[in-house]
Amino acid sequence: MKIHEYQARDLLRQAGIPVPPGEAIDTVEQAGPAYARVTGEGGSPLAVVKAQVHAGGRGKAGFVTLVRSREEADHAARFMLTHRMVSPQTPPEGLEVKKLLIAAGVDIADRAGGGKEEFYLAITTDRARRAHTLIASREGGVDIERVAHENPDAIIGERLHPLSGLEPHQARRVAYGLGLTGKLAPQAADVMLRLARLFVDKDCSMAEINPLVVAGTPAGEPRVIAIDAKFNFDDNATFRHRDLEAMFDPSEENPLELRARKFGLSYIALNGSIGCLVNGAGLAMATMDTIKHFGGEPANFLDVGGGASEEAVTEAFSIILSDPKVRGVMVNIFGGIMRCDVIAQGIVNAAGNFRNADGAVGFRVPLVVRLEGTNVEAGRRILTGARARIPTMQAATDLADAAKKVCAAVAGG
Ligand code: GDP
Ligand code: MG
Repeated sequence: MKIHEYQARDLLRQAGIPVPPGEAIDTVEQAGPAYARVTGEGGSPLAVVKAQVHAGGRGKAGFVTLVRSREEADHAARFMLTHRMVSPQTPPEGLEVKKLLIAAGVDIADRAGGGKEEFYLAITTDRARRAHTLIASREGGVDIERVAHENPDAIIGERLHPLSGLEPHQARRVAYGLGLTGKLAPQAADVMLRLARLFVDKDCSMAEINPLVVAGTPAGEPRVIAIDAKFNFDDNATFRHRDLEAMFDPSEENPLELRARKFGLSYIALNGSIGCLVNGAGLAMATMDTIKHFGGEPANFLDVGGGASEEAVTEAFSIILSDPKVRGVMVNIFGGIMRCDVIAQGIVNAAGNFRNADGAVGFRVPLVVRLEGTNVEAGRRILTGARARIPTMQAATDLADAAKKVCAAVAGG
């Protein structure tokens, strides 16, 4: 599960990591008053307007804008709420922006030798070393992906002990490795220690601050402060974090994946043209491999799991067919706890209820069904009985036969 930046900032704040004040808004009218509150009486007029979407690369896409007046805040808010944001991390058609963050702006200190004092910090899992790892770079900011690719030496890391977590001496080593000195080094080390604890406390799979900056106020002492953060959480642990569950924003999720989740189905959208209805993740993998082996490309896989009801199977079909990329469907069921007659009845119900875009009822795309296991004879009888009502349906004898048939049907248009 992902959350928005304004929510990520709340988590940082709760963990004692310094973050500029900010407010989330969802209409242009709210921009002016929010600007006035975050900049405050007599404070610096600098604020930042930021699109809240579950994708990065906002700065480069023009969806992070520094403003110095109410009018500029209004203008930036109007632009972002009426344009889709396209970045390398969004789908090609971009994302609709429904929320904005208006935050107090930070004067980022200049770096001796050019550039700004922007750092990258993240805690993530290093699978090769089987450990959580702190990674950091002096080259933080909007170009971190390029830095990681072209200059991997600019990224430093420390492995977290599974029980004691990040140790203070490790955090200090990273802070000095980033080139921080004086009072800034212990401040940055403190941010790292707090971020590492937050990562474990909230069952994160990724926690990132990019950039952590040195705020160079002309009057006061320079200090480190986080101005962007991203979290990803382990979905298997969200049940024990009510506060995180409350941050879930369904409008940022794939609507078909959401619909599937409601029925206890796991649906993963892919890019090909063959919809796959299977039971069990292992069988899903084998099904996709076999489709690819015969020259096809899966459009998705939908795992109905072990004990799906007829109703859930009917819903599963409707989800698969709502994807306009689907030009053929392969059903591959190995009935264990899942009974083949339930699947067969689900197919028949779905065909009887499925409404095409022109209003006509029934499946039009080729459908290849391979059933094996518990109650298979009863399942086959149901399908044979419904053959006249589902003219595009073919039965297959085994996995290879099914994949060959569906690939041929899709290739034949
Ligand atoms: P991202 O592009 O989605 O990662 O969005 P960020 O919040 O990281 O913003 C992108 C860039 O905008 C940062 O790397 C900064 O250079 C700049 N930026 C964001 N907020 C501020 C701010 O308060 N003050 C200044 N001076 N620059 C900012
Ligand atoms: Mg960023």
